[in-house]
Amino acid sequence: MNISITKTTNPKQKPDQNNLGFGINFTDHMFIMDYDEGQGWHDARIVPYAPIPVDPSAMALHYGQAIFEGLKAYKSAKGEILLFRPEKNMQRVNNSNRLLCIPEINVDDCVQAIKEIVRVDAGWIPSAPGTSLYIRPFIFASEPALGVRPSHSYKFIIILSPVGAYYPEGINPVKIYVESKYVRAVRGGLGEAKTVANYAASLKAQVEAKKEGYTQVLWLDGVEKKYVEEVGTMNVFFKIDGEVITPELTGTILPGITRMSTIELLKQAGIPVSERRISIQEIYDAHAAGKLEEAFGTGTAAVISPIGEFSWNGKVIKVNDGKIGEVSQKIYDTITGIQSGELEDTFGWTQK
Ligand code: PMP
Repeated sequence: MNISITKTTNPKQKPDQNNLGFGINFTDHMFIMDYDEGQGWHDARIVPYAPIPVDPSAMALHYGQAIFEGLKAYKSAKGEILLFRPEKNMQRVNNSNRLLCIPEINVDDCVQAIKEIVRVDAGWIPSAPGTSLYIRPFIFASEPALGVRPSHSYKFIIILSPVGAYYPEGINPVKIYVESKYVRAVRGGLGEAKTVANYAASLKAQVEAKKEGYTQVLWLDGVEKKYVEEVGTMNVFFKIDGEVITPELTGTILPGITRMSTIELLKQAGIPVSERRISIQEIYDAHAAGKLEEAFGTGTAAVISPIGEFSWNGKVIKVNDGKIGEVSQKIYDTITGIQSGELEDTFGWTQK
């Protein structure tokens, strides 16, 4: 794919590396590609980061035909720039596209686009431990029309944001509210797509849980509110009596790349792992029997987020005395070690 590059003549001041936060600062450039019916995806270009003109009747603004991704670039101690399984994110773009009736894109072209934009803004990648450059590819329906149907034109954009360490003060297990009132997705819906509607659907529960002092909500299935789905913007794992269990993918949860990597690492380490339906009652019972050994979330942002406590209909499920478990710590160290280039990447997960 040919990508034209127009460099900014007015570079921005870079933010303080010690105070980056998440998704607040954006780099000097962005990648854009257009789709028009009859032409396909065209005009791949890197241009200065700036507001874009959007027609007030652009379909995405009205009916939410939009998807996104999230991944990171890391600077290794040797100064190399590493991406973690970027082709998996781009395959997931197409999975989201199929569910949202958005035309598919070429995975190799998109990985090339990511590499090119990261190269152009390489000076923005922070190097302090735990920091990274967050990469946000997204697609939205841009056709100006109000009929409810798939759009005939789209924009694919990649923006970049230097982000701080997720755990500046060390890993701290979080408190999670088991959501029994609101639901995120149902079978046959959009749950497995990384589409804007799923995040809109999560806000009210998140705000209410935060008000009560919880970091995030654990979603249950949308029909019986019985089976565990995922937690906030993370997939969820439980270690019960030596076995690691994560909910199976049935179309309602996002197939996380950290989830996939965690399963592969557990298998390699010979730790029993199963993907199956697991009810919140089973977790409560395991806890009551002293067999709930660990619980953790997995996702690009935190990699591993240990869970110290669940609150379920007024009952408290305490996990491992609120401390990080052995498996959680091991997976965290291994994945972050591979991502940062400190550990040898025997899986071939990283790309320079
Ligand atoms: N579930 C949801 C709803 C998410 O938004 C994310 C973050 N992308 C995840 C799970 C974890 O996915 P990944 O490991 O690919 O970041």
